[in-house]
Amino acid sequence: MAAEVIDGKAFAADVRGKVADHVARLKADHGLVPGLAVVLVGEDPASQVYVRNKGKQTVEAGMHSEEHRLDADVDEKTLLDTVARLNADPKIHGILVQLPLPSHLNSDLVINSIDPAKDVDGFHISNVGLLGTGQKSMVPCTPLGCLMLLRDRLGNLSGLNAVVVGRSNIVGKPMAQLLLGDSCTVTIAHSRTKEIEALCRTADILVAAVGRPEMVTGDWVKPGATVIDVGINRVPNGEKTKLVGDCDYASCAEVAGAITPVPGGVGPMTIACLLANTVTACCRANGLEEPA
Ligand code: NDP
Repeated sequence: MAAEVIDGKAFAADVRGKVADHVARLKADHGLVPGLAVVLVGEDPASQVYVRNKGKQTVEAGMHSEEHRLDADVDEKTLLDTVARLNADPKIHGILVQLPLPSHLNSDLVINSIDPAKDVDGFHISNVGLLGTGQKSMVPCTPLGCLMLLRDRLGNLSGLNAVVVGRSNIVGKPMAQLLLGDSCTVTIAHSRTKEIEALCRTADILVAAVGRPEMVTGDWVKPGATVIDVGINRVPNGEKTKLVGDCDYASCAEVAGAITPVPGGVGPMTIACLLANTVTACCRANGLEEPA
């Protein structure tokens, strides 16, 4: 039987609708407008597309949006000064520095210069520590989006076996923490993992965050498993290009119980969660109740 398609696009639209409702209430009841600032260094085409979409959807949700574009050869002090100004700006509740940064800049230093309360990407060391110890934090957007899709499909995740393929700080590790927080039994696989196919076949929940086009095939998937494909890979398609995930959709969908497509799965959830995190940051900064 073919897998159920998890429609991240529709789910994300629903999340954005709830964000917009909350923003409207913040305005009406408290005169507050949540503000998101995105800092983009250089001209990486994929980053430019992400930043444009983030700005557009922020405005559509009724929030204040700022873009700060810096040249690819900007010096570290100028970038840190930009972040410091945004940290001090009361109009801004969320700050996102678009990654990857050019190699002459120290990403850890820059990310850790963001006020943790405004760190809507959840990459600041304080937020990483809070998440790891099960305390209230800013949760990274992509794994948060994956968790929302999983909870929606599976309800209670307690006791399920989850395998996360990929151990990056922005997807794999926080994804594993979130699944552990929901009482899954979690294994993180990576490029040195032995017999990875057999390991993946033990997973009730299989999350692929690898960055390798269509690496995970149907024979890696336990029948009936829920497969979350985080990958976004642009590959040649005749004269043009197309987007594919880290999973081979056709073969995985034959075995899985449910699967996220690429595009239209995890991708739209990332920006929706960014908007939700910005509203959360605004509420926390003003001592107001947070969105559910
Ligand atoms: P990274 O390159 O930072 O990490 C990739 C991880 O995959 C590493 O831990 C690496 O292992 C592991 N890996 C690489 N090759 C293999 C292999 N052959 N077998 C097993 N594991 C392997 O990537 P990201 O986490 O940043 O992103 C992963 C994917 O998700 C990319 O396609 C990216 O475009 C996409 N993405 C999508 C987002 C969205 O909004 N949907 C947001 C962010 C990312 P090791 O550590 O051992 O090298």
